Amino acid sequence: MSFRSAHYTLDAMGIKRLTKQRKAVLEVVRHANNHPDAAWVYQRVRERVPSISLGTVYRTLDALVDDGYLLPLTHSGEATRYEANLDGHLHLVCSKCGEFVDISHPLPDLLSGVKERYPELDIHAVQVEYQGLCQGCRTRLQS
Ligand SMILES: [Zn+2]
Ligand SMILES: [Zn+2]
Repeated sequence: MSFRSAHYTLDAMGIKRLTKQRKAVLEVVRHANNHPDAAWVYQRVRERVPSISLGTVYRTLDALVDDGYLLPLTHSGEATRYEANLDGHLHLVCSKCGEFVDISHPLPDLLSGVKERYPELDIHAVQVEYQGLCQGCRTRLQS
């Protein structure tokens, strides 16, 4: 696959097309409730922008992450998924299908006590992740 793209030419048409693609990609991720990966986004965006390439979808997702519209969700060995809900919720990562399920639950302050105890370290974030089975995988295993 070639990553050279006419969408980056600086003519007015190119800029307009890029903006339209960017909007389409962002809307697809926002309306998805499954933290989609690039391949899934590509299938959906193509319904609206048939000329778009998978390479453009990847670049657009990267740009939306850089600009703070999306958060990348990574898990070892899995394709990066994208989060449009930036309210700081947690996730359960399904050990069977790799899906990220939203979990809204208040957490105690996990950072300040540890920072006091380890002043020699520069700790700036903590990640909490639930592990288990999503509803779909759980139902399939029971039937
Ligand atoms: Zn699952
Ligand atoms: Zn989420």
